[in-house]
Amino acid sequence: MFDVNYKTVVVKCPNPSCMANIQLSIGKVPGGENDSGGWILECNKCHMLFPYAVKNPNDYSRVDHGATVLDSWDNEILGDKQEVIKKHNLESFPEDFRFDNLLYVETGEFERPKFSDIEENIFFCPECGTHIEPHVYSQLTHKLTSVNETIEGYMPYYLKGMLGDPDSIIILSDYQCSCEFKTKIVLYKSFKENELPIEDEHELILIDVIGAKLETNIDGIYNRDSCLQVLQKLLIRWQVYYNRVFLAVPFIGFDFKNREAQRVELWNWILKNTVPHKTTLLTRRATFNSFLEGSNNTGLDISVLKSYGLLNPTLSELTEKKALFKTDFHAKFYAGFDRMNSEVLVGSFNIHEGGYVENIHFKKYDFGDFFLKYILKMNIIFDPRFIDEEGEFLLIDESNKRVTIEKYNTSRRNKILEIINGIDNKDLPN
Ligand SMILES: [Zn+2]
Ligand SMILES: [Zn+2]
Repeated sequence: MFDVNYKTVVVKCPNPSCMANIQLSIGKVPGGENDSGGWILECNKCHMLFPYAVKNPNDYSRVDHGATVLDSWDNEILGDKQEVIKKHNLESFPEDFRFDNLLYVETGEFERPKFSDIEENIFFCPECGTHIEPHVYSQLTHKLTSVNETIEGYMPYYLKGMLGDPDSIIILSDYQCSCEFKTKIVLYKSFKENELPIEDEHELILIDVIGAKLETNIDGIYNRDSCLQVLQKLLIRWQVYYNRVFLAVPFIGFDFKNREAQRVELWNWILKNTVPHKTTLLTRRATFNSFLEGSNNTGLDISVLKSYGLLNPTLSELTEKKALFKTDFHAKFYAGFDRMNSEVLVGSFNIHEGGYVENIHFKKYDFGDFFLKYILKMNIIFDPRFIDEEGEFLLIDESNKRVTIEKYNTSRRNKILEIINGIDNKDLPN
């Protein structure tokens, strides 16, 4: 019916001489009805009882391990909480008791980072060099009504099963810069009935600005935080525009004892920004092992997560040895590609946070060239057979008020460029 987001939370038992890890899975319906309430928990190690306030205690949330739920209350029911607390003789428990949440991994449908929330820009006007992204989004506000009307016109056909089963919505729109430069922009949104109409232009991902020169604009010295943002935007773009993502990264976070939490956070960052079946991660075995160790020491037991099926699939694939390990490499590159083309971010940047500066450069290759220069040179086995992706998208040509269902069998990008070249390529910059 609706999508439930699950968040894994690890809390420590409040008994100071116990401090056992208790792992909870908190389910929430984004934008829907969520009950507030709580549980009476019993620590499985020291058997201490304590109240724990939680969303949706009676349906979507649960304890995964470390404690047992003895009772629950619902804040909506008058006096329910007091009664339950009294029943278990826990009135002395301070009302404002706080637990230390150690770490969480979101599972199920992620709240994925919004493209437009990421500060660093990747699209610039090729004529005057201004940032295009803020202007695109402010212009979109005015276009949303007509886009929604077009989708509304399509829905009856969709619901009757008469016209396609799109996996996404692609919007082509005209864009004019204040310097008079004209081009087309490409926007993406996944097609989900319950997310329509589009309420906010920021639900759309700007996946392309035709003629923008990423090679020129993503090139130079950046601090690590900016590198992460540029990579994050590219990852969002690659997974819906191209098909596959390849990350070759020897180091993820620092291998110091006191940096464990940060290291685990960076791994979570990767998991959050990638789609497991589209991603290949090449790293040093030591990097992966130190992540496993770090996550154990910060309270998250990967093996437990795995056995409960909670683990993000990227990670469970890693543990099933689908990840590629290589001991002796120092090359770093991040690539998105389909059977025809590839885009690569290369430079000195490992996945790290902070103010240290690194050099990064954006490059484009046809796929064969990329395969020869990067994948083969790494001396690893990579099966290129599973590159193609098939599906269909709802194409809204916003400027020409046209809507069609388009099938693609290589990648969305390939199909979209074919369509753009077919419409009015005489006006477009190359
Ligand atoms: Zn305990
Ligand atoms: Zn301009």
